[in-house]
Amino acid sequence: MAVPFDWLISGALVIDGTDRPGVHTDVGVRAGRIEAIGDLSGASATRRLEGTGRVLAPGFIDAHTHDDTVVIRAPDMIAKVSQGVTTVIVGNCGISASPVRLTGAPPDPMNLLGDASAFAYPDFASYRRAVDQARPAVNVAALVGHTALRSNHLSDLYRSASAEEITAMRAELRQSLADGALGLSTGLAYATAFAAETDEVKALAAELEAVGGLYATHLRSEFEPVLEAMDEAFDIGRSARAPVIISHLKCAGAGNWGRAGQLLAALEQAAHGHPVGCDCYPYSASSSTLDLKQVTGEYRITITWSTPHPHMGGRDLADIASEWGISQQEAARRLQPAGAIYYGMDENDVQRILAHPLSMVGSDGLPEDPHPHPRLWGAFARVLGHYSRDLALFPLHTAVHKMTGLTAARFGLVDRGRIALGQAADLVLFDPRRIHDVATFLDPCRPAEGIDAVWVNGALAYRPAQPPASSRHGRFLPRAGDLRTTFNSQPNGDLPL
Ligand SMILES: [Zn+2]
Repeated sequence: MAVPFDWLISGALVIDGTDRPGVHTDVGVRAGRIEAIGDLSGASATRRLEGTGRVLAPGFIDAHTHDDTVVIRAPDMIAKVSQGVTTVIVGNCGISASPVRLTGAPPDPMNLLGDASAFAYPDFASYRRAVDQARPAVNVAALVGHTALRSNHLSDLYRSASAEEITAMRAELRQSLADGALGLSTGLAYATAFAAETDEVKALAAELEAVGGLYATHLRSEFEPVLEAMDEAFDIGRSARAPVIISHLKCAGAGNWGRAGQLLAALEQAAHGHPVGCDCYPYSASSSTLDLKQVTGEYRITITWSTPHPHMGGRDLADIASEWGISQQEAARRLQPAGAIYYGMDENDVQRILAHPLSMVGSDGLPEDPHPHPRLWGAFARVLGHYSRDLALFPLHTAVHKMTGLTAARFGLVDRGRIALGQAADLVLFDPRRIHDVATFLDPCRPAEGIDAVWVNGALAYRPAQPPASSRHGRFLPRAGDLRTTFNSQPNGDLPL
C-alpha cells in the first residue's frame, strides 16, 4: 500500500522553470519534496488542490533583496509570499546584516536594513542561527556586504582601506564563506564605499576563488560612466575567477536613456569568456536612500522617509522645496537622512533589460521603508501580468524561468527553482489570466492578485484572504558548492513532454 502524498496538485499547467512551455499534469509532494509528476489520478493524498485553469510553477526566487533583518523581525514575509516568492537572496549592494559590529548608528545605506538595534549579528554564523530560529516563511540565502565589512574595520568610510584593514576584512569574509555565505556584494556607488579602489575590492574578492563564491555588485555608477563601471565589475570577477552578477542593471539619469543596448552588448561580450549575469526589477523608477548626487532636477523624486521630517514621507521633493522656498538640493540636505524614489529610467531600457536572456528578476524591495517603492509587494506579479501577459514581452514560461530555474542556477540552489523529481517542494499556483500587481506608488503595500497558493518546503505558506500560515517552513540555505559549476547550467526537467 503506497504512502499517501502530503499534497497532490492536479490538472494545472505545470511550468517547470527550465524555460520550456508548460504541460498539463499532476504533481505529488511528500516529506517536503516533489515525489511524482504525471497522471496521479489513482493516487491517495492527505490534501489535494484542484489546479485546472491554473499554472503551477516553482516558487519564485527573489534574486535581489534587502530582507536581511525583516526575515527575523517579521518572519511572515507577507509582501513576498503573497506574490509567490519562496526564497530571498539577502546581503545585496554591499550591505548585509552580518557580520556587523556597529559602534553607533548604521552608516548610509546600511540604515536601509534598520536602525542600530537591527544589527545584532557580529558574525555570519550568528545571523544564520537567527534565521533558522526565526524560521521565516521563505528560505534565505545570503551574501556578505563589502560596506558591512568596511564598517567593522575602517574608522573612516570615506577613504580606501589600508593593507591591515584589508587583511582583517578578508579574514572575516573567509570565515563567512566557510559558514555558508554565497559570496561578496558591493555598493560602490554609495559614498561609504566609493573611496574603495578597485584593488581593495579585488583583494577581498580573491577569497571567493577557493570556495567558488560569487561577486554581486551595485555598480560604481549607473549614470554616464556605467560601461566603465561594468568593466570594473568584470575585471574584479575575472581576477577572482568568480561569477559576476550586476545588480539591478539600468540606465539611470536622463543623459543615459536609450543605452540599454550598449549595456547588454557589454554584458554579452563579457559572458563569452566568464560567467556573468544581472538582475533587474520591472519598474522605471528606482529607490534607495536620498542621494544628493541624484538630485538633478531632471526627473521627479518622491521622499519615502526622513528622520528629521517624518511627515514628508510620500511627498515630492519639488513640492517640499517650493513650500520651503529653497532649492531641491537644499531641501534634500535638510531632509537627510532620508529615503527616496527616483523616476529616473526610460521604459524602453527597462523592457530591453528585463527581456534579455541574461537577466533574472529581483525585487530590490525595501521592507523597512514606511512608504516603500511598490516593487516590494508587486515585482513578481508585475513581470507575469503586465510584462509577460499584457505586453507580451516574453512568454509566460520565460517569465517563470527568470524567477526560478535561472536564478537557482546562478546561486547554486541546486534542489530549487524547478519542478522535477526530488526537488524541494517550493511551489506557487496562480491564475495566469488574473495575476497582476496591485501595489502602486501611491498605495504600495498591497498584495498581488491571482496567487492561489504557495508552498515552502512542502508546506502551505500562503493562501489569499486567509491569515498567515500558523507554522512557517523556510530555512537558511548555505552555499551548496562551487557556483562556477552551476552558474550557467541548464538542468532538464522531468515533465512528460
Ligand atoms: Zn543596490
